[in-house]
Amino acid sequence: MASGRVDLDGNPIKPMTICMIGAGGFIGSHLCEKLMAETPHKVFAVDVYNDKIKHLLEPSSLQWADRIQFHRLNIKNDSRLEGLIRMADLTINLAAICTPADYNTRPLDTIYSNFIDALPVVKYCSENGKRLIHFSTCEIYGKTIGSFLPKDSPLRQNIMFLRRMPPCIFGPIEKQRWSYACAKQLIERLIYAEGAENGLEFTIVRPFNWIGPRMDFIPGIDGPSEGVPRVLACFSNNLLRREPLKLVDGGESQRTFIYIKDAIEAVLLMIVYTKVSGEPSLDSPTIDISSKEFYGEGYDDSDKRIPDMTIINKQLGWNPKTSLWDLLESTLTYQHRTYAEAIKKAISNPTAS
Ligand code: NAD
Repeated sequence: MASGRVDLDGNPIKPMTICMIGAGGFIGSHLCEKLMAETPHKVFAVDVYNDKIKHLLEPSSLQWADRIQFHRLNIKNDSRLEGLIRMADLTINLAAICTPADYNTRPLDTIYSNFIDALPVVKYCSENGKRLIHFSTCEIYGKTIGSFLPKDSPLRQNIMFLRRMPPCIFGPIEKQRWSYACAKQLIERLIYAEGAENGLEFTIVRPFNWIGPRMDFIPGIDGPSEGVPRVLACFSNNLLRREPLKLVDGGESQRTFIYIKDAIEAVLLMIVYTKVSGEPSLDSPTIDISSKEFYGEGYDDSDKRIPDMTIINKQLGWNPKTSLWDLLESTLTYQHRTYAEAIKKAISNPTAS
């Protein structure tokens, strides 16, 4: 319901129209839910899929039926995109290939999706004087200088905490994992340049790891059998199938998790910124697997993720609230409720999936 929310100046929020590209994905589905339930805004929900927002689109009698419209279109090649951006007050671009298993195995698709396909979105926002909130990634921070020092060097810790303006170090070209970060960085540079030269108003969001219900897919159930989703969905899949968790390269990679519903609160502030199963555990709950075997040739990773809350605290007064344990519980409970039966069927009848 349109609530008594106010903007950062304390004024009632004026209804606006938002063109949300990638609205049918994980973040988009949560953002659409929040916008419908707690704001008066209208959403043009643009995506090639709508399974994750179906509950918001049907039945048409829902109280927000006249505030959300789904537009099934591929932004690669659809002339309707400019019209939608022009009719909206704000565009939020979430569309991207963003599962690490694709970065080194489908580098061309990754670069096209994260850079080339985003170009018209930036161009139409700039030419039509529309604000853009663009989703980039924390991976554009790359590796730390510390990762190049010997493991026992005391300098490692000091350098890791060089926070605000870290040098941006990506792995070599043949480590195709960095195609994603590099494409995201180039689109960020383009948006920044459009701002500097043509006055584009923009906000760039670099999420660390936002997790929760509806993230990615379970291979062989609502996604390809050979597909590799992001880490929590991989672990859920192993748990649901009662397999050991696969720990890539000894499980030393680090992530910085935040619960999707906390993160969506922050996105809402950016929009108005104008001013579990009960079964016994396995004997071997985890196994080691090499990154080459798990993700294929050319995989690499950031050595350390170092989130800095200074700017978001100062500008939006936002802090996450949900603990890692609470967010794991709610996400894994959702995964279990949604997929347990289908996985049992798939395991008992492997040729059918
Ligand atoms: P997601 O894959 O769940 O959603 C992306 C959506 O974009 C999908 O529904 C997909 O169908 C749609 N899409 C992709 N290409 C399209 C095209 N050509 N035309 C129309 N629709 C298209 O991903 P997400 O987790 O919701 O992430 C959204 C954004 O946030 C991405 O840009 C991603 O790089 C960034 N991000 C997310 C995280 C995270 O923790 N979830 C972390 C870092 C960055």
